[in-house]
Amino acid sequence: MAKFQVPRGTFDILPKDSYKWEYIQNTFRKVAKRYQYQEIVTPIFETADLFERSVGDTSDIVQKEMYKFEDKKGRVFALRPEGTASVVRSYVENNLGVNGGITKLFYIGPMFRYDRPQAGRYRQFYQYGVEAIGSNHPYIDAEVIALQYSFLKELGLKGFVLEVNSVGCPTCSQAYSQALKDYFKPYLGELCPDCVVRFEKNPKRILDCKVPHCKAISKNAPTQLDYLDEDCKAHFEQVKTYLSDMEIPFTVNPHIVRGLDYYTRTAFEFINNNLGAQNAIGGGGRYDKLVEQVGGKDTPGIGFAAGIERLILSLENENLPMGEEPKPLYYWIAIGETARKHSVSIIAKLRQSGNSVDFDIEKESVKSQMKAADKSGAQFALIFGEDEFKKNTVIRKNLVTGDQEELSLQELKG
Ligand code: AMP
Repeated sequence: MAKFQVPRGTFDILPKDSYKWEYIQNTFRKVAKRYQYQEIVTPIFETADLFERSVGDTSDIVQKEMYKFEDKKGRVFALRPEGTASVVRSYVENNLGVNGGITKLFYIGPMFRYDRPQAGRYRQFYQYGVEAIGSNHPYIDAEVIALQYSFLKELGLKGFVLEVNSVGCPTCSQAYSQALKDYFKPYLGELCPDCVVRFEKNPKRILDCKVPHCKAISKNAPTQLDYLDEDCKAHFEQVKTYLSDMEIPFTVNPHIVRGLDYYTRTAFEFINNNLGAQNAIGGGGRYDKLVEQVGGKDTPGIGFAAGIERLILSLENENLPMGEEPKPLYYWIAIGETARKHSVSIIAKLRQSGNSVDFDIEKESVKSQMKAADKSGAQFALIFGEDEFKKNTVIRKNLVTGDQEELSLQELKG
């Protein structure tokens, strides 16, 4: 019979790797909590129009990459392509901002995009991210960036850079859109069909096009930075000052355009140039109109999202440790029928009192059990034979030094 395979662009996280994922997620949780962000978990599917309205119906993510489906009652849902829209939906629905101040949230989970799979790009991938909702103060922009920066530092990562930009507010981005139209107009005959549509609907999206000729044309297009109004300019200057105060190195890249429509003002990317084509290891920005677009009150916000797969590739490239493969404290070796029979309840009690104990009921000879104990990486072998059973003891052998001593079962549990 033909074997089943995982769907294209997806993968299993196997036991040889799952501890690395646990380590990364828990390290992120630890760092996020240092900044007082709290975890939020939302469903992996939402009504499709949530993403259409927020991420934007002219974005590639919504137009081409969204897994959209109808349920049995004809309601249209989508597997979430990103986390922010869901978090903001939950913020509004659950009135999370009711007490005023800044609501600081983080999430970790799978996202889905019908993209062309390649190294570092999958159809199901994991993102971690944060959202700070309720303030337009430039300090918060720097704080959100600082959180990702200190997480990457905590993991020991070196080969990455931070690029920042400002994409302005709706007012200055209108002036910019007009400037883009003026710029692209003479090239209309050369742009790809998608970009011709983008020209009418949202010329900024042309800058995001992956077609090489469109990319080449875009190269000399005006940038949003040249069209910022005074307030947006001042905001961006302050963000940069706060980043410098926090000693976070960055460069300004006026060409950053995020692939999602909801961004305003600050936009940023963390880039690892050792990763090849898929070199973005995280990005985010401000979304001062998103809460309102999703049905809430006019409330500013900012966040970022980053991919765990590309982070793991980055850590592997730098030979950095990702936690430790879990190993048992004890490997239980039972010798003889009586000892084996009584081992069952002793092992159960040892585990109940919090010890990790490995035991293989299939192995009977001392030799095969000793071999398995060494292979398991356990710190100690516990050897239990006829004599030990009679005395209520066990021999504890240190598998590193080879030292061994006899202990009462009572002592062992204590
Ligand atoms: P975005 O939501 O597109 O800004 O993506 C944020 C981050 O998620 C990127 O910087 C990547 O690290 C990661 N990411 C986005 N799309 C994919 C994908 N298809 N496969 C793996 N990681 C991805």
